[in-house]
Amino acid sequence: MILVFKHFFYKNYVGLSLWPFIILKEGSLKSDEVLINHERIHLKQQRELLILPFYLLYISEWLFRTILYLDSYRAYQNISFEREAYANENDMQYLSKRKTFGFLKYLTR
Ligand SMILES: [Zn+2]
Repeated sequence: MILVFKHFFYKNYVGLSLWPFIILKEGSLKSDEVLINHERIHLKQQRELLILPFYLLYISEWLFRTILYLDSYRAYQNISFEREAYANENDMQYLSKRKTFGFLKYLTR
């Protein structure tokens, strides 16, 4: 389910997934297939990790990588969940062929 909240976003971020919702900055983004696919990959990750552990792992990995790179944006881009989503967001069939815990192979790269 897709919701639109204009005043919810930090900096250049335009989409967010909070299972079971995808939240967008603008209604027009609903037609951005790549963005929606990216967020749907996150919904799948969240569901397979039973939601709460996803957020704990996501934040832990971000903090760890921020210390590692001393760059919070680079840390965000390299979180395994984001690596998987960015690497496959252009593949509209990705979710139908993805294996469970597909983000794990993006943990080390
Ligand atoms: Zn993402």
